[in-house]
Amino acid sequence: VCDDVSKTFVSGPPGFGRTRVSAVHHVSLSVAPGESVGIVGESGCGKTTLARMLVGLERPDQGTITVAGRDVTSARGRDRQALSRQVQMVFQDPYLSLNPRMTVLDLVGEPLVVHRTHRGATERRERVAELLDAVGLSPDMMSRYPHQFSGGQRQRIGIARAIALEPSVLVCDEPVSALDVSVQAQVVNVLRGLQERLGLAIVFIAHDLGVVRHMTDRTAVMYLGTVVEDAPSAILFDAPTHPYTQTLLAASPRMGRRGERRRRDRVVPVGEPPSPTDPPSGCRFHTRCPLATQVCQDVEPTLGSRGPGHTVACHHADEATGRGAALARVQL
Ligand code: SF4
Repeated sequence: VCDDVSKTFVSGPPGFGRTRVSAVHHVSLSVAPGESVGIVGESGCGKTTLARMLVGLERPDQGTITVAGRDVTSARGRDRQALSRQVQMVFQDPYLSLNPRMTVLDLVGEPLVVHRTHRGATERRERVAELLDAVGLSPDMMSRYPHQFSGGQRQRIGIARAIALEPSVLVCDEPVSALDVSVQAQVVNVLRGLQERLGLAIVFIAHDLGVVRHMTDRTAVMYLGTVVEDAPSAILFDAPTHPYTQTLLAASPRMGRRGERRRRDRVVPVGEPPSPTDPPSGCRFHTRCPLATQVCQDVEPTLGSRGPGHTVACHHADEATGRGAALARVQL
């Protein structure tokens, strides 16, 4: 669970007009055991910073992140190490995230060594074999190096490494976007299978809305560091409420009735997002929103309930409801 989490990056030398980038702004999000939650939004909306905070690679300036009720942000020493095992990350680029000088045995076995869970070489080898099997790779491959594998196989190695410590949450940051379309589905199916077998909670960050729809139970939409809508995926993709979600979906690949993609264009939202160094007042989307009024410029909207598990941050949510279907028709 992350509760009211914010993160601002400051760059430039002190005293020379330092730049402040508000990457994540008062975000609250929860993931239940066994649930998969998608996070979508344009580049620079804060998805990756949020992911990095969830796995402890960045510390929030404000707010708390808890795993199974225990505060990760304030934990220190052994406590922190134990909690960090609970949340692991699958990185975007399987070419960059694996050390080319290490064998698969060493790569997948490294977390077992660091956390001292499998001290003996034989024990470690057996566990690595088990993990490779779990992601659909032959244990016979464990003495090979990353360059001897295809992109999809490398991502499977990254997943095997991420599940080595039996985490309860897997944070996947654009896990298939660097892969050929033909292997994306295979990797998504590996993640789905692991989620079902191991009861993993998955946070799935991606720009490809078709993949997110297929992969997740629930989706949160981020805009300029804030969550603007959070809903069960079936509701969000079929009847989006927030004007930004509507724009995002209307510009995305259209879905067929059975979920197949008809086109594979990337998301192309209307206009450029404002700079996160100087976010707009009030609702951060007001400079691009067709429904914006004075109150949108003056008052920042908070997430309000629109139904079971569905929250939206918009002053004019009633008026916006139903426009999603209209926008989708225009795009067709
Ligand atoms: Fe648009 Fe106003 Fe809603 Fe923001 S609060 S999304 S500007 S209608």
